Amino acid sequence: LSGSARGPPPVSTNQAYSQYAQGDIQNGPPPMDHSMAQPPVCQPYSHGAMNLSGPHPSYPQQYGVQPSMQQMTNQMSGMQVGSGPLTSAGPGYAPPPSSEPPISAAYSAAAPPSYTQAPHPVSGAPSQPPPPSEPAAPQPYYDGPPPSQQQPFPSSAPPPSQPFPSSSPYSGPPPSSQPRAPAVSRQQSFPPGPPPPVQQTFPNSAPPPVSQALYSGPPPSSQPGPFPPTFASPAQYPAAQPPSQPGPPHFHSGPPPQCMQGGYPTQQNGAFGQPRGPQPGYAGPQYPGQQNYGAGPAPTPAPTQKRLDPDSIPSPIQVIEDDRANKSSEPFTTGVKGQTPPLVTTNFQVKDQGNASPRFVRCTAYNIPCTADMAKQSQVPLAAVIKPLAMLPPDETRPYVVDHGEAGPIRCNRCKAYMCPYMQFIEGGRRFQCGFCSCVTDVPPHYFQHLDHTGKRVDCCDRPELSLGSYEFVATVDYCKNNKLPQPPSFIFFIDVSYNAVKSGMVNIVCQELKTLLDYLPRENPEADSVVRVGFVTYNKVLHFYNVKSSLAQPQMMVVSDVSDMFLPLLDGFLVNVNDSRVVIESLLDQIPEMFADTRETETVFGPVIQAGLEALKAADCAGKLFLFHSSLPIAEAPGKLKNREDKKLVGTDKEKSLIQPQSGFYSNLSKECVAQGCCVDLFLFPNQYVDVATLGVVPVSTGGSVYKYTYFQAEMDRERFLNDLRRDVQKPMGFDAVMRVRTSTGIRATDFFGSFFMSNTTDVELAGLDCDKTVTVEFRHDDKLSEDTGALMQCAVLYTSCSGQRRLRVHNMAVNCCSQLADLYRNCETDTIINFFSKYAYRSLLNTPTKTVRDTLVNQCAQILACYRKNCASPSSAGQLILPECMKLLPVYLNCVLKSDVLQPGADVSVDDRAYLRQLLSCMDVSESHVFFYPRLLPLVKLDGGSLPMAVRNSEERLSKGGVYLLETGLYLFLWVGANAQQELLSNIFGTPTFSQIDPNMTSLPELDNPFSQRLREIIDSFRSQRSRYMKLMVVKQEDKAELIFKHFLCEDKSASGGASYVDFLCHMHKEIRQLLS
Ligand SMILES: [Zn+2]
Repeated sequence: LSGSARGPPPVSTNQAYSQYAQGDIQNGPPPMDHSMAQPPVCQPYSHGAMNLSGPHPSYPQQYGVQPSMQQMTNQMSGMQVGSGPLTSAGPGYAPPPSSEPPISAAYSAAAPPSYTQAPHPVSGAPSQPPPPSEPAAPQPYYDGPPPSQQQPFPSSAPPPSQPFPSSSPYSGPPPSSQPRAPAVSRQQSFPPGPPPPVQQTFPNSAPPPVSQALYSGPPPSSQPGPFPPTFASPAQYPAAQPPSQPGPPHFHSGPPPQCMQGGYPTQQNGAFGQPRGPQPGYAGPQYPGQQNYGAGPAPTPAPTQKRLDPDSIPSPIQVIEDDRANKSSEPFTTGVKGQTPPLVTTNFQVKDQGNASPRFVRCTAYNIPCTADMAKQSQVPLAAVIKPLAMLPPDETRPYVVDHGEAGPIRCNRCKAYMCPYMQFIEGGRRFQCGFCSCVTDVPPHYFQHLDHTGKRVDCCDRPELSLGSYEFVATVDYCKNNKLPQPPSFIFFIDVSYNAVKSGMVNIVCQELKTLLDYLPRENPEADSVVRVGFVTYNKVLHFYNVKSSLAQPQMMVVSDVSDMFLPLLDGFLVNVNDSRVVIESLLDQIPEMFADTRETETVFGPVIQAGLEALKAADCAGKLFLFHSSLPIAEAPGKLKNREDKKLVGTDKEKSLIQPQSGFYSNLSKECVAQGCCVDLFLFPNQYVDVATLGVVPVSTGGSVYKYTYFQAEMDRERFLNDLRRDVQKPMGFDAVMRVRTSTGIRATDFFGSFFMSNTTDVELAGLDCDKTVTVEFRHDDKLSEDTGALMQCAVLYTSCSGQRRLRVHNMAVNCCSQLADLYRNCETDTIINFFSKYAYRSLLNTPTKTVRDTLVNQCAQILACYRKNCASPSSAGQLILPECMKLLPVYLNCVLKSDVLQPGADVSVDDRAYLRQLLSCMDVSESHVFFYPRLLPLVKLDGGSLPMAVRNSEERLSKGGVYLLETGLYLFLWVGANAQQELLSNIFGTPTFSQIDPNMTSLPELDNPFSQRLREIIDSFRSQRSRYMKLMVVKQEDKAELIFKHFLCEDKSASGGASYVDFLCHMHKEIRQLLS
């Protein structure tokens, strides 16, 4: 595993509260220095307004053909597009504003608490070398039809040896080679198999390696790269100014801020002051002797239409690079209310000083309107993307565990908010006033402490819950189901052993892998074995349970063929401790592939499988996770049986939504039962045809689980990706039987929630499982007027059972400012988070709304946001100018990427299952994942020296050089694009051959060549993989090969094959929409 899953399993000791003592809060090694060698010049796009007063291309559909660079230049002549020196106030330009009041001083009162603390143990565990990774062969771009040479089955028809087509389940005797089981379970001893193999562990591993912090340890990665992203600010760009801070909350200067006179408000942090070379038409690094080639299509038939120069419109790369240059050198401290954090693409360190780290909570706006009217006028969504159990980099402290004793955590009497820095102690410390509801509560005697002259408790800095944004409480029995302390969770593995599952190699791979993976079950105490118990079931149209009790010489199989009313045929010996039953388990895992090697059974059930897991957890009275490895549409007669309803003709019609709605209510009802039991379901799909992901995904999505899809799975090609996903999924830190509640201060409340969970009322988010990668997005609305004096508060509390069976409460607090001037709102937004929210909102709307309506609504809302800014915050200027708020200048380009995504505008090659899969996937993505998902990272592979990364280029074909090689990261896939005229030296360094034609496009891993370029490139690929929650498969794309179409799909600034607009055209369209709203 070169990615994240292998290595130290995510286990840790509890951080007892007593550790929270003396010392320095910042300890641990400084972040690894992976400074970027940034070229000394930046891209001189027009920061200012764009004059679009010329005629505009008509928008819908006919976006025109992408003109070449030369054509654009010609068409630009005569257009008033803001350009020229950055300091001049040319059209659309303003000098760097000086109107921003000095702000850092205004907050001196809110200085961070100066408590100290004992050094935090930073993972002392040795990292584990990965097992040798299997070379894998190429795979179709997400699960589209495979290239013909890779396809194991020429069609989706049943295999030739199958006498009965799977579509006619009742035609004769069952085609199974399995002995027909009686309708009730029976016991069956295994024939003596081969001697059980000796205990098998990971290479070099005796006991599994451990890190010492559960959630803050290093990612379980064996590779030396830093975590998270390897970006760092270039050393030669020390921050010219202190980290950006918002204006004081009371700053509202009446007239619109002068700084917006020319279009953009403040360019913060001296970005304008940086040297910018005269590099018009920046197109990334140039290779000697190579011309950039244009997009290719013929010139637009309407040459009189004026077009924008792509270099004159806001560039994502520039914004990312500016933020990186300005914000990565200083730690981001959370003590200042309403401060917008660095972008997710910037590598920065966080110091918790009273508000939750942006790794846990990111908001769309950090200065929210005081009134509902203002909020409605602006149309800026008010939402928080919360990742409650996020893993932190090694140099940040994981939340401390606080124990308030037998009476449990101290809470407000009325709203039940937990003790936090927003509680105001009064009456000499005997009572406290709630920051959320203002209710006054008595301080219990055991919690009493005197106040200092400022009214603060003298122990404030020694107590995490009084000084930090994030921490945990030990929960008492009152917080447990049925007032009973929980049992440790169980993991149950369900392996589909039908024909397709066996034939693809999946069954063999899973069984092989589990033998080692079971040593890496999550644990909290590194010294002890995991307390997670395990169980095993195989199934096709019947279920086979296994007794793996340690006293048995061989595992025993119990077959349940009556799947209509699922029951558990055995209690004792089904859920076992791995170490106790290791010999029996290994024997079982060796025998399963042999037992079903010759099966002819093609039909599967699905509902009864989940029911069986649920019954097992009920019987054991514990929470847990089911791992389902499943291959086909469950057409066998059973509860939850599905029919093939794929009908691509519905795409684009009003009935389209039926394709992503579940087929029946069966799985939704089953979800409720699972959530009540704390039964989380993870689904690994290996389909060769339509399996109805929309329906099969219902239970995973409702229980906090995950769906993984490996279409046309073939062992030799897909093994690496699947195993890395599985390893990470089994090992990752997670909580069980969780309930999340978001409390807010008076005036706003949480009204809507997005993610993988279930809600049985309007306030409690119930998650059978919650892992470190899952986010819950919360939308807020006003129910009263807010005050600029107090701001707005949010407290997210997650009650969960840890993997060792301890009941805990994790609390994240967040305070934001409130404003009575729209300009303050527009100065403190985070576009990446807004896009995360909009995409989730839109993707969910598809369930009930025609796709076109969803798209139109998105465009309209964004136009309103920008029109409101123009009307209320920007100084008067000609209607022909497009004026964008500085922190939202990428809203159009990113919104266009959402609109063009496969979910909202599917191309012909996107299957119904693909769409359902991506839709579900997005629902719990964090901001970092959604950012790269919608705007992939494209790196030119030029000089790869030192620890630096080359600067990315914009996602457009025009930015590619025929002489170059580029790495594209989408969050789900990695592409290596090789230009047709790539330099021989480059090819030799990467592929070991100087000849373009000799490069094998089917390779999925690069040859390990002994040169610095090859080594560094493979390091970069490994580090990218370690940053994502899913393993990204590498695909090599040679220019002008067929597969290039797949690659081009991700060049999201270009017009897309499915009809999506280019960035330039979409920006013109947005401008038209804005003008209409203003007129
Ligand atoms: Zn309260």
